[in-house]
This record gives sequence, C-alpha cells and structure tokens, in this order.
Amino acid sequence: MGAYTVLLAEARGLSREVLGGKGYGLAAMAQAGLPVPPAFVIATEACRRFLREGEVPGLWEEVRAKMAALEGLTGKRFGRGEGATPPLLVSVRSGAPVSMPGMMDTILNLGLTLEGVEALARATANPRFAWDSFRRLLAMYGEVVLGEGAEVFEAGLAALKDRRGAGTDAELAPEDLEELSFQYLRHLEARGTPFPLDPWAQLEGAIRAVFRSWQNPRARTYRRIYGIPEDLGTAVVIQAMVFGNLGEDSGTGVAFTRNPATGERGLYGEYLRNAQGEDVVAGIRTPEPLERLRDYAPELYRELHEVAGLLERHFRDMQDFEFTVERGRLFLLQTRSGKRTAKAAVRIAVEMAEEGLIPKEEAVLRVEANVLPGLLRPAVDRDRAPEPILKGLPASPGAAVGHAVFSNEAAERFNAQGLPAILVRPETTPEDITGMYLSQGILTAKGGLTSHAAVVARGLGVPAVVGAEALRVLPHEGRALAGGVEVREGDLLALDGSTGEVYLGPVPLVEGGEEEALRRLLAWAEPHRRLGVRANADTPEDARRAREFGAEGIGLCRTEHMFFGEERLPWVRRLILAKTEEEEREALERLFAYQKEDFKGILGAMDGLPVTVRLLDPPLHEFLPPLEALRAQAETGDEEAEVLLERAKALEEQNPMLGFRGIRLLLLRPNIFRMQLRALLEAAKELREEGLDPRPEVMVPLVADPKEVERAKALAEEVFQEYGPIPFGTMIETPRAALLAAEIAPLVDFFSFGTNDLTQMAFGLSRDDAGRFLPRYVEEGLFPFDPTERLDEKGVGRLLRLAVEEGRRANPRLKLGLCGEHGGEARSVGFVADLLDYTSASPFRVLTARLAAAQAGM
Ligand code: PEP
Ligand code: MG
Repeated sequence: MGAYTVLLAEARGLSREVLGGKGYGLAAMAQAGLPVPPAFVIATEACRRFLREGEVPGLWEEVRAKMAALEGLTGKRFGRGEGATPPLLVSVRSGAPVSMPGMMDTILNLGLTLEGVEALARATANPRFAWDSFRRLLAMYGEVVLGEGAEVFEAGLAALKDRRGAGTDAELAPEDLEELSFQYLRHLEARGTPFPLDPWAQLEGAIRAVFRSWQNPRARTYRRIYGIPEDLGTAVVIQAMVFGNLGEDSGTGVAFTRNPATGERGLYGEYLRNAQGEDVVAGIRTPEPLERLRDYAPELYRELHEVAGLLERHFRDMQDFEFTVERGRLFLLQTRSGKRTAKAAVRIAVEMAEEGLIPKEEAVLRVEANVLPGLLRPAVDRDRAPEPILKGLPASPGAAVGHAVFSNEAAERFNAQGLPAILVRPETTPEDITGMYLSQGILTAKGGLTSHAAVVARGLGVPAVVGAEALRVLPHEGRALAGGVEVREGDLLALDGSTGEVYLGPVPLVEGGEEEALRRLLAWAEPHRRLGVRANADTPEDARRAREFGAEGIGLCRTEHMFFGEERLPWVRRLILAKTEEEEREALERLFAYQKEDFKGILGAMDGLPVTVRLLDPPLHEFLPPLEALRAQAETGDEEAEVLLERAKALEEQNPMLGFRGIRLLLLRPNIFRMQLRALLEAAKELREEGLDPRPEVMVPLVADPKEVERAKALAEEVFQEYGPIPFGTMIETPRAALLAAEIAPLVDFFSFGTNDLTQMAFGLSRDDAGRFLPRYVEEGLFPFDPTERLDEKGVGRLLRLAVEEGRRANPRLKLGLCGEHGGEARSVGFVADLLDYTSASPFRVLTARLAAAQAGM
C-alpha cells in the first residue's frame, strides 16, 4: 500500500482499524473472488492526520495514482467518456472501524461533468439515466460537501413534478432532469458555493468532507452513546460506480444470509428493480422480497445463494450485504455482520456450530447472556404495535396484556373472573404481594431496577415496567394519568418488560421460544463454568422453576413475603402490637406453623441442594397499613384502627431503609429470630423423617459490626442445641461490614454479598427512588451505567474484593456468595466469577448467570 491508500486487491492482512469496516469487508470479498467493483481505501490514519493538521502531505498524489489504477482495472477514464465507453464515476463513502450506521456521509456518481453527462448518455443510449445521475450527484454533493440543506433539492424536485403533473420520478423526461440539474447548478452558484465542474476537484472536496463528517454532531452523539473512542477516525472507500438503474435487467438489493428476526437459515431480503441503492433506503418505491427473483431471475437468485454461503464461510457469521445488478451482472457493494434479535442470535450461534462453521465455544461466547430471560417470554410485536403511551425502566422481561387494576382487591376480583390484570401502583411495598402475584404484568410510576417492584416481579417471573415517571397513579380514585391519557380500572393495558414500553389497548405479541437451541447452548457452556449458580426464590413454585433452569440451590430465600398472606397478616400485626409475653407467644406460635410449612415446601422443592434462608429484614411498619389510611379509618371511630395508628406512629421513621430493620430488629426482638430459625429446622427435621435430604442454611441481614454477628450466632446456637447445627452466615450489605470483614469472617460459615443495599449505601442513593433520575444521569454521561443494574466494579466492587480477601484470610473455610440483583446480570457475574463460590439470581436470570459464568471461564 501507499502511505495512506491501498487497492482492495492488495489489502490482504490489513486490519479493520486501518481499513474501516466497509473497506475491510470489501477487501475480504474481493480476495475471496466475489464480484466487487474495483476500489481503493484511504486508511483511517489519513483522517486522523487531516483532523489534527488540516492537511495530509502526499495524499492527493497517492489518490491520483490509485485512480489511475482504477482506470486500468475498469478500462474507463475518470470523468471522461471516450466513444462508446462511458466515463469512470466513483462513489466516495465513509467507513469507520466500528459500525456507525447512517452516521456519516456518502456521495455517488462522483466525477460527472456536463461533458460527462453527454458521454454517459451516449454510451448507455439512455439520456434520462445520465441526467438523473447528474442531478443526484448535485444534490448529494450540495448537501454533504457544500453544506446546502437537503430540503432545497427535494423541494426543487417536488415542484418540477408538480409542474409536469408527474406522480413519480420515473415519469420525468430527460429534459426535465436536465432542467432540474441546471436549476441546482444555478442555485449553488448563487449561494457562493459553486459545484466544481472538474472531476478531480469534486473528488478532493468529497474526501475532505468525509474526513470532516467524523466530527459532525450526529456522529459525535452516536459515539458518546455507544462508547466509541473519538480518535479512531474514518476510512474512505472510493469505488467504481456500477448502476442498478440502467433498466429492467438492473436493480439493487439488501440481503441477510439468515433471517435476522428468527435466525432461520436461508436468504432473506429485498430487491428493487431499476433503482439505485439510495432509493431502497429512501423508501421511494416498495421493494419486493428476494424470493420473487426465483421466478424471473433464477440465475441471479442462485448466484445470491452462492454468495451468501461464501460470505458466511469467510466471515463465520450471519452477514447483511448490499448488492447491485447492472444489466444482469451481480456486484457486491458491502457486507457486515447482521444485526439480529436475541432469539435469532441464539439460533444462529447454535446452528452455525452444528454446521461446523464455528467451534461450540465460539457459539457460547457469541450470545449476550443478559438477553436470555427475555427469550423465553412473549414480546410486543413492535412492527405492528401502536405508539406506546409511556416508557419506564425495563424491570422484568416479557410482554403482558391485561386490565388495569390499582389494588390487591381489584386484582383478586379480575382474577376470580378469569380476566388478566395489570397491577398499576405508584410503587409497590410488600403489602402489594398478592396483587403482584395475581397479575400478568406490573407497572409502577416510581422505583429503580432494584426497587421492590422490580425485584419481586423478576422473582415471580411477571413482566414489569417500573419508574415510568410520566405516570401519575391515584389508587384511591381507581385511575391513573399517563401523559394526556386517563387509565381507569378495567381498561386494557399492555406492557413490555424488555423494552419498558407501555401501550393502551391490546397489542400483537410474538411468542418466545428457542428453548431447544438454548438448552444446547447451555450444555456446551457448562463445562467452562466454575462459579456456582443458585436462585433467589421464596416460594416452592419459584424454587421448582429455578431448578428447571439449572439452579444449584437457593442463595437467598427472603422470608418477609411469607408474612403477607391474608390469614397471616393479622398475626403479624398482633405480634407487632403485643403488650404481654403471652400475646407475643401466641402470635409467634401461629406464625411458626405457617413458616414451617413454607420452609418445608421450599426445602422439598430444592431437595438435596442448599437453601439459604434470610431472617426477617424489613422494618415492622411495612406490615401495617399506610398512616393515611389508618388515620382515615380511626376518624370513623374504628378502635382497632386507633390502636394500629398509635403503633404505626411510634414505628414511623424518617428513613426506614436505614432504620430499625434487619439484624437490629432481630436482636432486639429475639423471639422473632428464634421462631424463624426453629421453623426452618423443624421443617428440615420433618422432611428428613419423610426420607428427604433438606440442606438449610441461615443468614442475617444488614450487619454492620462483628458484635451483632456474635450475638446472632449465640441466639442461633441456642436453637442448634435442640436440632443440631446448620451453616450460619451473614450478609455483607453495609460498607462497614465489608470493611470489617476480617473481624466478622471467623464468626461465620459464609458471607453473602447483598449488593443491592451495598450499592445503595456505597453511593448514598435510594434504590427505591433513584429510578427518577438515574436514567438521566446515565444519558448525560455522569455515570457510565446504572449501578443498581450492573455492579459498579470501581467502588462497590472494591469493597467486595476487600471483604473477600480479608474475609478469606481470616477464615480459610469461608464460603462466598452474592445474592443482590447483580447476581443475574452478565457483566457483574463476569466480575465475581473468579472471586466468589456462587452467585444467586431470580429464576429466569439463572440462565443468564450460568451462561455469563461460563463465558467468564473461557
Ligand atoms: C441486597 O440488599 O442485595 C439483598 C439481596 O437484599 P434485599 O434486596 O432483600 O435488600
Ligand atoms: Mg438487602
């Protein structure tokens, strides 16, 4: 190659960084013997130098030499027709090393002048085509290089069509297009930016404009959003033009080597007869499906099939390629790895491995683990759905359609009639569990990705959109306002928890699937996984589902939801209100019976596998009705409400999440601790007597000091006296506990990192409210991602690493797990894969955790 330029045929061994994606794909195709029009590439280094210094010494001489080579290869002269030979025209296109679709500029038909138009008309015996090519060049050049607005050219064309009464461009005569060309020329002249009627000046101007387009606002924004480095620069591809608009035996098309929506094998795409590539993009005429070619151009169809096979063998991936047919001859203009849906990604990876195109390991690495939960669920068919009325955070994947309900009671009512419900709440609290359980979908106005609604929905496998800021929910009035739209109880709503979009009325869905392909992929992945994967589950049903997804136990069984059943809540309230030991004992005995049954169900479902039960965590006020409701009821003279109100006022805290909860509550109300642990051990004992193999473990939440652990352990040991010991552990979810890991570790058998609270406290941001501004924070580039979704390695990760290292040093037998929501997020799992013994995720996300852990080990 020259210092900055290289012909396709000579680009062997040069990287995508040098040639840009487009140049790289063209060079690879040319080398594979595929029909690619002759071209050369200006390397990205030239762009970088141009942007740095404003000029690239020696570049224009090199460009001239390469153009001479193109003249040799095509037998045409640049910009000059000779007899029956048309002039050589070129396209000038940008191509960055990383795909930035549509972000930068392209100019076609470059090199045409007034004499060139005549020559082209002569050579093709098609003056209409010649003038059409010229007016297209003028418009593109005018816009991209000379900075004129595209609408000026569009308006000129539209006015002309009006005058001629022409419905489409095709109805315009050659003279019309000639007139239009002169009109464009005059306009550019009058603006002080005349169109250069010298081909070489055109070429230089176009190359400079493509270099500059790297810095245009669209491109900068795109790079910022996708984290693409600013200093890559773009390559420029200069390629001999071929024409798809020379008649009915010409055309242009786009093809995928497999179906990008389903992954199904086979050519998939569109073709437009007698057209140039930009016509397809502009949607001026509707292209026809490629299969149509089978009827009237079977040879071409067969050739495209062959090309598809060659491209896949060469690039070892599904390709999305552009082609042009010039008078029956096929030319390839571009190829790249095709964008695809999650479903297609899995199927393509698995089938390509089975076809021997890629190794199985590579198939495993190609699938983005975070998409798996959404794969098994239906999704909204966005092509056929109306505009969404709202957008929130995609908290739990899958689509749901149902009737809006605003309370547990309404959810029960619809459910009893066999009607699907969507629970709509300002936010959810543990009290809403019944409604959440009975609904097909959950929508909240507040809350982030680790808010109660998000966590519980994922656990239940119910699709959910949370933190839809534009939503105002008025549960007492039985209605909600979404922008200008009022939603009343019973109105049909639809939501997609994979995209965060909410719709009014029914919407078409597409079914989930690919279970079989996914099963095979995971089977290939498993041997590479070292990290254990458990589930967060607190019902036997969740436990069973998690087990089907491959969970190796339960890493977090939250016990608070067990207190919310209709017949249980009164006993929980009595426990809270108890004035005498006798009253407390009675309530505890009742709750003991319920809990024992709960634990039997879960331990039974996870027979033979560890089940880590976390003792009560939330502040007690969560088990009482909201203050306003109590006040209103007390005002009606309801005595019970008056008592509850007094108690609720006493329990009220400014900041309950940092208040009397977790270990603090358990140590100061030790009978709750004893009751829960006894229920767990009694359940295990009964199951053992039935011949099962329960493996309970117990842990305490929100510890901040070793003294708390010591006291909790002493309490546990009292109960162990009676039943025998089980593993005893603590959650590490306050920064102080992480910092004091060396002192805490010798007291316990395991640590389980509660990264939801650890993140909340490390950042000092509320997981329940931060959904209001975190997305904007990320958009503004203040945070690289939402740390409640993906583990912040720098800060929270540092606390975690410190606790792991110091904890292990102080207690070499210490087991280490993670049970925050990050435990089911692919990159976070990758981060802890070498640090911990296991991660724990909500049932559907067990799949993500398994795949991500395997990928980390490859
Ligand atoms: C955590 O804080 O990470 C955790 C698992 O506990 P919870 O989400 O129940 O607070
Ligand atoms: Mg917690």
